[in-house]
Amino acid sequence: MIISVDGSAAAGKGTLARRLADHFGFALLDTGLLYRAVGLRTLRGGTDPSNREAAIRSATELTEEDLRDPQLRGDEAANAASKVGAIPEVRAALLDFQRRFAASPPAGAAGAVLDGRDIGTVVCPDAEAKLFVTASLEVRAARRLKELRERGREAIHSRVLRDMQERDRRDSGRDVAPLEPAEDAFVLDTSELDPDAVFAEALKFIKSRQERL
Ligand code: C5P
Repeated sequence: MIISVDGSAAAGKGTLARRLADHFGFALLDTGLLYRAVGLRTLRGGTDPSNREAAIRSATELTEEDLRDPQLRGDEAANAASKVGAIPEVRAALLDFQRRFAASPPAGAAGAVLDGRDIGTVVCPDAEAKLFVTASLEVRAARRLKELRERGREAIHSRVLRDMQERDRRDSGRDVAPLEPAEDAFVLDTSELDPDAVFAEALKFIKSRQERL
């Protein structure tokens, strides 16, 4: 079984995807990390992540070590990710790996949970259960601010809000695989829900899909 969890930044999809993978004993792939690693690798090479040739090279030369970079979770990597993510050849280079993971999850797991932006629409259009997680911009910015401060980072509300708005614009406005729910996705607005309630709603939906299989 494949479960796709797509949605906007800081809407709660990472937490939900991890809980679902634990609950079902499925393998988990955070596909954002792939784009972040390509973005950081490009930056580290001294090139702007919007540079097409450099970004494509980073995507095709990506190593395991790139995926362990401690800066991967930071905002610099997130912004670089959304720039390389707008380049069709970068997306194409990462597609195979994601599809292989979904089709043959590691360690013999009976299923896979993939979280990202285009899992239900492009990577796994045949996923058995598709979730699309969203929340208002204000709520998402407040969550990201809290998370950054908890990690001991200095963060300014207006800056976090602006970065998120810019990333939303790039993710939703790009020509290739824009951020949008698949037609058969269950859209979950988490603005007023805590993580337990989000998990319960998602589980209800997945069980209803399983009954139909
Ligand atoms: O999910 P996360 O915030 O780690 O993703 C970082 C960026 O990577 C996103 O803003 C998006 O531009 C890009 N991305 C993507 N497709 C995916 C996952 C992430 O374009 N499947």
